[in-house]
Amino acid sequence: NGPLAAADPEIARAIELELDRQRHTLELIASENATSRAVMEAQGSVLTNKYAEGYPGRRYYGGCQFVDVAEELAITRAKQLFGAEHVNVQPHSGAQANLAVYYALLEPGDTILGMNLAHGGHLTHGSPLNFSGKYFQVAFYGVEKETGRINYEKVFEAAFRHKPRMIVAGASAYPRSIDFYQFQEIAEEVGAYLMVDMAHIAGLVAAGEHMSPVPYADVVTTTTHKTLRGPRGGMILCREKYARDIDKAVFPGVQGGPLMHVIAAKAVALGQALKPGFKEYQRRIVQNARALAAALMERGFELVSGGTDNHLMLVDLRNKGVTGREAETVLDSVGVTVNKNAVPFDPQPPAVASGIRIGTPAVTTRGLVERDMETIAEIIRLALIHREDPDRLAGVREMVVELCRRYPLYE
Ligand code: PLP
Repeated sequence: NGPLAAADPEIARAIELELDRQRHTLELIASENATSRAVMEAQGSVLTNKYAEGYPGRRYYGGCQFVDVAEELAITRAKQLFGAEHVNVQPHSGAQANLAVYYALLEPGDTILGMNLAHGGHLTHGSPLNFSGKYFQVAFYGVEKETGRINYEKVFEAAFRHKPRMIVAGASAYPRSIDFYQFQEIAEEVGAYLMVDMAHIAGLVAAGEHMSPVPYADVVTTTTHKTLRGPRGGMILCREKYARDIDKAVFPGVQGGPLMHVIAAKAVALGQALKPGFKEYQRRIVQNARALAAALMERGFELVSGGTDNHLMLVDLRNKGVTGREAETVLDSVGVTVNKNAVPFDPQPPAVASGIRIGTPAVTTRGLVERDMETIAEIIRLALIHREDPDRLAGVREMVVELCRRYPLYE
């Protein structure tokens, strides 16, 4: 009934159905969240019309006085929130942010030491499928088989052996705290740059629920849409001495015009993160993750590393006789959204995987509290047990619907 429905009913319908899906399912994908209406309003604004190549006060286009205000606000707020000396808010995504940092500080053929993708690292940390694995020599550290945790002595050994130009810390599927101080010591010892990709934990870091990498890393990258709860996008924080190189690497190095509507939305999210309620919200994300981890373990689920310190957990399903892929499909059918995920030393290929990754940011945004985590664990248990029984699954779906009804989204 708005202009979109009139102009393009097919897209309007897809958006309507997606809203309906988000309202009536439990979002447990650890990298997702439900951003605020204020963020969406900024992102859906006329700022999308504006070209603004360059940086505030030094653009290659006229008419930038108002988008400059938006970008300055985003930068100032990000600096304040994370205590960073310099911030670039223009990367279109987390992957672009990482690309820009490599472009700024490395030469093709240099060595990077990153976390093994199969142990929780990200594609952009040196996977052969990604530009980072193609243009650089790569070496990896991982987690210990027995503990599921990073062993910093082994990171040091790998750094000593491979002499990387850059060490990359940070992960997409690591349920434990990361000690950035230890990474800095190792990087210093071998004369490497330290880049921390805090995409997953940025909100926790902002709220003091996870050690901040900012005092220890040369450069910190992040996405803005995960625990930070902003629009889909990226950001780079760095020491002043790298400011020029980083800015030049983002534009004109790897990007053209910045997405000013997204930058305005980042400013809104960063403003929200500076408000007192944000700390409490991040604390509840972590409390919910702990509660869900405990409730799953009580039900015989094995968690990689035996629990969680942050917003996510990795469930190793091998003792349940179900693969990650099967679990993802059956949970989807009852309205619980997770992603299959390799566990460390996984015998299955990544497309099958032995585990699922579960995170609490989105359900915490909806208002779910610790006792609801007990219900979610029970939903997961029942869905997996009754995966061949449509009638029982319908009953489980009802439990999900009831939880969603109690915690409405975007009403
Ligand atoms: N870095 C980490 C640690 C991530 O987990 C992700 C996304 O999952 C990214 C970077 C990439 O972010 P984007 O999807 O915005 O490119």
